[in-house]
Parts: sequence; structure tokens; C-alpha cells
Amino acid sequence: MAKKSVKDLDLAGKKVLIRADFNVPLDSDRNITDDSRIKAALDTINYIRESGAKLILVSHLGRPKGQKKEEFSLKPVAKRLSQLIDQPVKMADDCIGKNVEEEIDKLKDGEVILLENLRFYSQEKANDQDFAKQLASLADLYVNDAFGTAHRAHASTEGVTHFLDSAAGFLIDKEIQYFQKVLTEPQKPFVFILGGAKVSDKIPVIENMMDKADSIVIGGAMAYTFLKVKGVDIGSSLLEEDMFEVVKKILAKAEEKKVELLLPIDHLITDDIKQGENVETTESADIKSGWIGVDIGPKTQKEFSQKIKDAKTIVWNGPMGIFEKDKFAQGTKAIAEAIAESEAISVIGGGDTAAAVKKFKLSDQMSHISTGGGASLQFLEGKDLPGISALSMK
Ligand code: AMP
Repeated sequence: MAKKSVKDLDLAGKKVLIRADFNVPLDSDRNITDDSRIKAALDTINYIRESGAKLILVSHLGRPKGQKKEEFSLKPVAKRLSQLIDQPVKMADDCIGKNVEEEIDKLKDGEVILLENLRFYSQEKANDQDFAKQLASLADLYVNDAFGTAHRAHASTEGVTHFLDSAAGFLIDKEIQYFQKVLTEPQKPFVFILGGAKVSDKIPVIENMMDKADSIVIGGAMAYTFLKVKGVDIGSSLLEEDMFEVVKKILAKAEEKKVELLLPIDHLITDDIKQGENVETTESADIKSGWIGVDIGPKTQKEFSQKIKDAKTIVWNGPMGIFEKDKFAQGTKAIAEAIAESEAISVIGGGDTAAAVKKFKLSDQMSHISTGGGASLQFLEGKDLPGISALSMK
């Protein structure tokens, strides 16, 4: 059974508590440097506004660690949001309490108030029931559109659902639809591309995807631990020796399940990541002593791209190299381009991978770019996300 969507709610005249993800980056003068998270919530906000409800927006911002600190105030978000919706957005000085209740009572249908940073209270992250009850008491209905925190059971994501009828906003609804589609009924061949820094962070993902994907393509720093286990020389590349046994088991399981596991066959290497002056491409998978693998090489790019071309479903999580440095970004770019050109359904895991795709200006050519790093990883691990599980059923 599916979760209730905001479209299933009778909104007119109701007070609606909306959990958004307004955790935007700010510069030293507290100007918003990237407003995409605010823009991402606009569909839900506008729909609820146009339905004639009163909007009570809540979010966290940064890490105030349970203390009220001006530097973590959501005021800059209220200002930016009011520009984006071309309507004043009231800013409350708190997220619970008498003052907030009075401000909410003054709202007319279609009006919007943003409450102050939820994480000014340590009770938010602790999923304190009293705090959740106080938040819930401000409204008649609850809509969660903050996918980025849906993998956390916090008062504003899980706690409040015990007291209010609840639904997914458009953003979360879309995330659920795409992840369910690729994880439960993927069109084959299904290619899962995995990169990033550490094997240890991604073991549950590999294990879950082994049951679903036809091919698992591994790049990034985590590939070196796999290569080392296979007897390849990896020079001074990043290595997690304590993962050897786990990696051996993964390799054996892949063979048993007949899941193709592709590893880099050449690399871009340097003798100094910081300086990055001496850069070479290897002939084979071996890396000479003292040198470090920083990206997949051209042969690997070609091989991985061919796999992508043949795929009908693609899920990608983690960069192929140290893409933050232009010199080491080519492998990640080649993969992003191959996915962009592909006809397959493509789902891009959040965080670094989404940032990479954005950097290469290819975002529009992906079927879905997840807005949550940790949350998308948890989906790929096959685990429930408390902020989604808690929402009401249709
Ligand atoms: P993750 O958060 O696990 O997805 O890891 C992303 C990080 O992995 C990025 O910051 C990349 O710079 C880093 N990364 C990717 N490939 C390498 C590599 N070969 N050596 C060191 N770091 C890498």
C-alpha cells in the first residue's frame, strides 16, 4: 500500500505543518549561497497555498546543538522564500510556545509562517515525545517534504506523525516513486555504479544491490581495496585493510549469484594529491610503488560507459575519483556523460554524486537526482526510512 500524498489531504482552511529541508549553505554575512533546497520545496508549498490552507513551515539549519544561536536562524530563508513565492513569509522567533501559537492564530488562509530552527532544541534530534506533541499541536495536518532528513527519526520527521494525519510532499513522493521503481521492478539490465571514498560505508548497499543488479561497477577510492584483495598492486592508494575479509565475501557472493562485478582496469595516478603536478595514466590495473590512484583511467571509462549504454536501469552513488579537483574529475565526468546519453531510467544518489552531476551541468539529463545523501543510501541498503514509514497510508 502506498503512502498518502499531499494530494490526498483535504487542505482548505486547515493549518498544515510542513517539514521542509531548508538547511541551505550561508556565507559569512549569512547570505544564502545556494537556494536549490528552498526551490525544491516550492511545488509542495505552492500547492498547499493554492489549496487555501495556512502554512506552518519547519526546518533545521546547521548544527546549533540544542542552543538558540542567531548564526543558525532561519531568517535568511524566510526572506528568500518570500521572494520566490512573491508573498510575505512571517518569521517566528521560536518553533514552539505561546508566541508561536498566537502568530499562527493570526494567519489567514494561504498565508505562510516559517518557525525558527528546530535544532535550537535538543529534543528535536532526540525525538522527544513532548516536543513532538507541542509541534503537532500547532497544526491540523502534517506534510513531510524533507527527504534529506527522512532517514532520521526526529521529532519533526517521525514524532509528529503520532499526533497528526500525515502525508508526503511532492519531493518525498517523487523520491519514493523512483527508488521503488528501480529497487522493486527494475528493467534489465540493471547496472549499479558505486564509487566514493570508503568500502566500509557502503557494505550494506553492495550487499542489498547484489540481490537486484545485473552488474555492479566499482570506481573511486573504494575500488583499491577490492583490487588489493585480487592481488593487484595499488601503490599508496587509499586502502582499508580491515575490510579484506568483507571484500572477499562480497567477491565470492558476486560469483555465486552471477552478478558481474567490474573494477577499474587502468587509473589516473599522482605522487602527490595536494600538488597534483605529476600525473600519469597507468597501462594496466597495477599502480607503481608510492603513487596514488585518484581517478579511473581512459580504458576503464570506456568499459564502464559501454555497460551504461547497454543498461535499462542505472543507479549511481559515489564519484569515480577526486572529482572536486578538475584534474582528477574526468572519470566521474565520463560516467555522468554516459548516463546522460543513455535511454535508461537513471537514479543518482544524493550528496557528492548529485554535486558532481551539477558541476558538469548534466542534471537535467538524469531521470531523478535524489535530494538526500544519507537518505538515498538508506533506500539503497533496502532499509526503511523512519520519516517515510511513519507517514499515513492511503
Ligand atoms: P563518499 O562520501 O563515500 O561518496 O566519497 C566521496 C569522496 O570520495 C569525494 O570527496 C572524493 O574526492 C573521494 N574519492 C573518490 N575517489 C577517490 C580516490 N581515488 N582517492 C581518494 N578519495 C577519493
